[in-house]
Amino acid sequence: MEAVITLLPGDGIGPDVTACARNVLDAVAGKHGHTFQYKEALIGGASIDATGDPLPAATVDACKAADAVLLGAVGGPKWSDPNAAVRPEQGLLKLRSVLGVYANIRPVRIYPELAGASPLRPEILEGVDMLVIRELTGGIYFGKKTRTDTSASDLCEYTVDEVERIVRVAARLAGERRGRLCSVDKANVLETSRLWRDVTDRLMADEFPNIEVETLLVDAAAMHLLSRPSDFDVIVTENMFGDILTDEASMLAGSLGMLPSASLGDGSAGLYEPIHGSAPDIAGMGIANPCAAVASAAMMLRHSLGLDAEAAAVEQAIADAISGGARTADIVAEGDTRLSTDAMTDEIIRCLN
Ligand code: NAD
Repeated sequence: MEAVITLLPGDGIGPDVTACARNVLDAVAGKHGHTFQYKEALIGGASIDATGDPLPAATVDACKAADAVLLGAVGGPKWSDPNAAVRPEQGLLKLRSVLGVYANIRPVRIYPELAGASPLRPEILEGVDMLVIRELTGGIYFGKKTRTDTSASDLCEYTVDEVERIVRVAARLAGERRGRLCSVDKANVLETSRLWRDVTDRLMADEFPNIEVETLLVDAAAMHLLSRPSDFDVIVTENMFGDILTDEASMLAGSLGMLPSASLGDGSAGLYEPIHGSAPDIAGMGIANPCAAVASAAMMLRHSLGLDAEAAAVEQAIADAISGGARTADIVAEGDTRLSTDAMTDEIIRCLN
C-alpha cells in the first residue's frame, strides 16, 4: 500500500524517538512491499523558535492531508515560563482539536520480563491488560480560562454528544475484548461528571446491554489501579482524569517509555504519539527508550493504515527484543547492558526481520 505520514518530531527526545519509529516503519515497508512517504512539519517549542507559533498553518495542512500523523513530544524548560503567552502545549491541544481526534486510546501492556522495573509487586501485575480511553478534545483543558492578579478559573464543560461518542468508542472496544467497561468520574462533586454518568448509564443500557459496566469515582479509581489492576479491561474517562490516570497506569508497565497511544476521530486518519513527554532531563543523550514511539507506529499501522498483521509483527518484535534482554536505561536491572536509543531500535528491527 501507499501512505502519506506526517512526522511531527517536536522537542526534547521527540526527534530521537520519532526517527526510530520511522526506521522501524521503513523496515516494515521494505519487508511487505509498502511505500510510506514522510512529510516532516514543525510543532511545539521548536516551532515557536522557528515561526513564533506552536502550530503553524503549514503543519495543520500537512496533518490534514496525511493518512496519519506520528508525533514525538512537545515542551521543555526553554518554553515553560507560566506567564508566557505562547506555549508548546497549545500547539498540541490545537492539533487534537483541529483533527477532531476525540478518542485517545492507551493500551497498558505488561512485559513479564519488566515486572522488576515496576514499583508494584510482580503478583499484582499478573494478567494486567487494559485499555484506557481518554476523552481528548473537551473538558477543562479546552474550557474558557480567566486570570487576574488575585484569581484564576478554568471552565469544565461537556455535552451529551461528546460523552456519547467517547463512551461508544470504549464500549465497542470492550466488546472486542473481555466485555467489561469501567467509567471513571467524580459524580459526587462535579456537575459534568453527573452528566457523564447519566449519559453513560443510559447509553450502555440501550446500546450495549451485554457489556458489564462498573462506575468508579476518580479518587477510588486511582487506588484500584494499583491494588487490583488486572480486574480492568477498558476504562473510559474524561480528559483531565484520563491524563492523570494513564501516567499512573504507566508505572504498571515500569516506564513511561514503554506506552503508546492513538488518538482517533470519526475517520481513519489519526494522531499517534508515545504517552511520555519531551523528557528534557535526558534530551540529547541518546538514551531515551524508543519502544513507546515504535509501539505508537504499530497502532498507526493498525488503526489508520489497516495493516493489522504488520502492526502485530512490530508489537511482537518489541516483545521479542525485551525478552531477548534488550534494555534502555529506564528499564535496566542490575547486570543488564544498557542500550542506546539507536541500538534498542536496531534490536527491534532485527527481531522484526
Ligand atoms: P516526561 O514524560 O517528559 O518525563 C518524565 C520522566 O520520565 C523523566 O524522568 C523522563 O526522563 C522519563 N522518560 C519519559 N519518556 C522517556 C523515554 N522514552 N525513555 C526514558 N525515559 C523517559 O514528563 P515531564 O518531565 O513531566 O515533562 C517534560 C516536558 O514534556 C514538559 O514540558 C511537559 O509539558 C511535556 N509533556 C509533553 C507531552 C506531550 O508532548 N504529549 C506529554 C507530557 C509532558
